[in-house]
Amino acid sequence: MQDRDLYTTVLGLVVPWAITNVELSTGTQAIEVHIEATGVSRMPCPICGADSAIYDRRERRWRHLDTCEYSTTIVAQVPRVRCDEHGVHQVVVPWGEPGSRYTAAFETFAIGWLREDDWSRPWLGSCD
Ligand SMILES: [Zn+2]
Repeated sequence: MQDRDLYTTVLGLVVPWAITNVELSTGTQAIEVHIEATGVSRMPCPICGADSAIYDRRERRWRHLDTCEYSTTIVAQVPRVRCDEHGVHQVVVPWGEPGSRYTAAFETFAIGWLREDDWSRPWLGSCD
């Protein structure tokens, strides 16, 4: 399995989203997974779902779960569409909630970790 196929599968990407590149930096132990919406000129408005023309694309970054202890970041050229009713808005991406800088998988992991943490540990100190 190639790196693009691997991340396509683990991120659950479907058309039009496609991985265009995977960059590995051994020096910084970081991976960047580059994603674009390919082969489309129209996408749904994030507010009403109306099929709308792509206005432009802007680069956005999301922190994802580590890959074998390598910090992993999603870098995407995310389309903004011009809806006749709602104007220009960024489309919804399948890996993260609108406005978040973390992928849904990262947020789910972090919330689960926080729920499992033992908040009674003495080294956390007290507010008294
Ligand atoms: Zn709309």
